[in-house]
Amino acid sequence: MTFTTRFAPSPTGPLHLGHAYSALLAYDMAQAEQGRFLLRIEDSDTARSRAAFEAQIYTDLSWLGLTWEDPVLRQSENAAAYDRALAHLGARGLLFPCACSRGDIRNAASAPQEGAPMHGPDGLVYPGTCRHRDWKDRTATDAIRVNMSKALDHVPNLPRYTETGIHPALRLTRAEMIEQVGDVVLARRDTGQAAYHLSVVIDDAAQSITHVIRGADLASATPIHVLLQILLDLPTPIYHHHRLIRDDTGKRLAKRDDARAIALYRAQGATPQDLRQMVGV
Ligand code: GLU
Repeated sequence: MTFTTRFAPSPTGPLHLGHAYSALLAYDMAQAEQGRFLLRIEDSDTARSRAAFEAQIYTDLSWLGLTWEDPVLRQSENAAAYDRALAHLGARGLLFPCACSRGDIRNAASAPQEGAPMHGPDGLVYPGTCRHRDWKDRTATDAIRVNMSKALDHVPNLPRYTETGIHPALRLTRAEMIEQVGDVVLARRDTGQAAYHLSVVIDDAAQSITHVIRGADLASATPIHVLLQILLDLPTPIYHHHRLIRDDTGKRLAKRDDARAIALYRAQGATPQDLRQMVGV
């Protein structure tokens, strides 16, 4: 199978040095394998995505010297595929609607009988308030969550995958998946749009991705993605989680670290080679 990887930025802010590293690394790895490098615009969060940031992504990546295949997959154009996947999981009884706000979850998770609140890949592990609800009773403002315990009942072998980067593959037990990951969101509240964990697995399969190359900050989400791939009968790619680019104080660059935006370095006269040197790729 041809080595196929992707860079999947969200157009919610300018690309910064951390993105430059991730994109260049994926591109170089694909080149070294005579493979394919694809681009995906993760714009399913329409409230925060901006056309201007998407345009800037193309400009920044071209300036860095990257080329990618057409067509670019834009998540906002792939909603039907996410809805089909939700309907499939819902029909198997693995989903439930959830009306809880962040505040509701915080309050329920910190109730004395719950013990110390547990943090998972998406923040506080969901305390289960709406788990009794039927998926068919979803209202327009509900989120959709996967019932992790029921989902695992359908998976005879726990998620396993190959990891080639800096982060060891996470081999979570069933109990750990339930306690430390929990009932993650697959469709957002209010907008009903597919949430990251769902769209990323559908899109990686749609783009025939063989190697997912992304930051170590996403390593804890990978067992969720592998589980969803099993439930949806999708192939599991090889995962490569790379080191994160940090600022001078050692802090990981945030999504909105505009001070380190690629466009700003370019405006100040830096060359693509300078950026490669700065991030060490
Ligand atoms: N869209 C995600 C981000 O910008 C990347 C998702 C992924 O590579 O799986 O952080």
